[in-house]
Amino acid sequence: METNEQLIALLQKEGYLKTQSVIGAFQAIDRKDFVPADLPDKAYANEALPIGEKQTISQPLVVAFMLEILGVKAGEKILEVGTGSGWKTALLASLVGKDGEIISIERIELLSERAKANLSKYGVVESGVVELVVGDGSRGYPEQAPYDKIIAAAAADKFPEVWKEQLKIGGRIVTPVGNSIFVVDKITKDSFEQKEYFGFSFVPLVKG
Ligand code: SAH
Repeated sequence: METNEQLIALLQKEGYLKTQSVIGAFQAIDRKDFVPADLPDKAYANEALPIGEKQTISQPLVVAFMLEILGVKAGEKILEVGTGSGWKTALLASLVGKDGEIISIERIELLSERAKANLSKYGVVESGVVELVVGDGSRGYPEQAPYDKIIAAAAADKFPEVWKEQLKIGGRIVTPVGNSIFVVDKITKDSFEQKEYFGFSFVPLVKG
């Protein structure tokens, strides 16, 4: 895979990328801008890649799958847990547009700083669409709650219940749990609907 277009074509062919808005975000954001400089040849491979600190930039098919399920609309306010390289952050920023808001929390300060540098090409931190926070996302981020959507990039055995409280009614959580992706819809203040999609792999969600 040598170009972003080839990667997109593959993800469409395999059925991971479907809707025009998510395809448009993948076209607008070049994955190479988020891959370490010593791995440029791998930027468009459908693989997770090391970004330092024992973490990875997510596999494209996983990001495509999660963003399709998240169903982002322009203007939404979204909490992302696990900024990593900032790639998914940039895709989310593209999806919500200039009236939206992405709060992205990362526990490793060095990765958050690198993500900020990676994102600078797109001006989304400077414009105020993206706010990067260094901290423990397993407690969510109550300071800015409630959110239309919450998306996580790291897996726990069980996802933190507190995320449900920080979600608006009608909102959705998409998160890894073990080797699955869970989709949780908030129907009323205390009723939820949950679906599980099997067969993925993630780095661990670390508490504290
Ligand atoms: N979508 C990102 C993937 C990053 S990997 C990308 O494509 O680059 C998952 C990230 O979650 C790692 O950077 C890890 O440090 C972070 N993480 C793990 N547990 C966390 C927690 N409790 N709070 C915030 N970030 C966490």
